[in-house]
Amino acid sequence: QETVYAIASGKGGVGKTTTTVNLGTALAQAGERVAIVDADLGMANLAGFVSLSPGSATLHDVLSGEASIEDATYRLAANIVGVPSGNELADYAETEPDGLGEVVETLRDRVDYVLIDVGAGVSHESILPLGLADAVVLVATPEPAAVQDVSRTIELVDRVDGEVAGLLVTRTHPSGDVPPETIAEKLGVAELGAIPEDRAVRASVYAGTPLVVHAPESDAAVAYRELATTLTGVE
Ligand code: ADP
Ligand code: MG
Repeated sequence: QETVYAIASGKGGVGKTTTTVNLGTALAQAGERVAIVDADLGMANLAGFVSLSPGSATLHDVLSGEASIEDATYRLAANIVGVPSGNELADYAETEPDGLGEVVETLRDRVDYVLIDVGAGVSHESILPLGLADAVVLVATPEPAAVQDVSRTIELVDRVDGEVAGLLVTRTHPSGDVPPETIAEKLGVAELGAIPEDRAVRASVYAGTPLVVHAPESDAAVAYRELATTLTGVE
């Protein structure tokens, strides 16, 4: 039951990359084979979250026909590989996003879960992965505008005949926010969970280590492991 999830949002800076890295690492820690793919082609930064300095090939090179998928697949830890993107604007200019479908299908055959970190916005490369995935994990922070942002992303998922897995609300505070279940209910989608605002997240980004490794007992790490279970049933 190989499964491909796209991690998507209307806005940037809501925790998509953090979610891709930590959901992926939590699944790997539970014994699943995982590939995480940086498909945020214009603002790629997944590599830094896992201290990966792609020696040579990146997803950009694969998409521009200059490297194979193998060349751009790097082992991150036990059970988990990463496919980084280049972070030079020049890489981006050469890229043909349509090749992403083949990349995803190749990885699907090799691992149990493929997680695609999708760029924000409404460009072709942000919409394409929504249809390549088996299901889309919608990510939003608990602001009043979240409902509108996410509903636009749901519309894009529909447009490419994709499926919504549900909503993950990130950076929640104990009080004062719109409750995640209220946002999910307004949108008519399942609530996948809430990741609390947690200083350990930033510390893990600075350390270049996934939070679930860097601070496994932190509140946000516990919440990411719960997300892994809610989404996939893996314990
Ligand atoms: P996106 O990929 O959607 O642009 P990121 O995953 O890069 O978002 O997260 C943006 C910033 O927010 C990062 O610097 C990260 O440290 C911070 N962040 C994300 N989730 C949390 C959280 N639960 N608690 C505190 N900071 C967070
Ligand atoms: Mg990101």
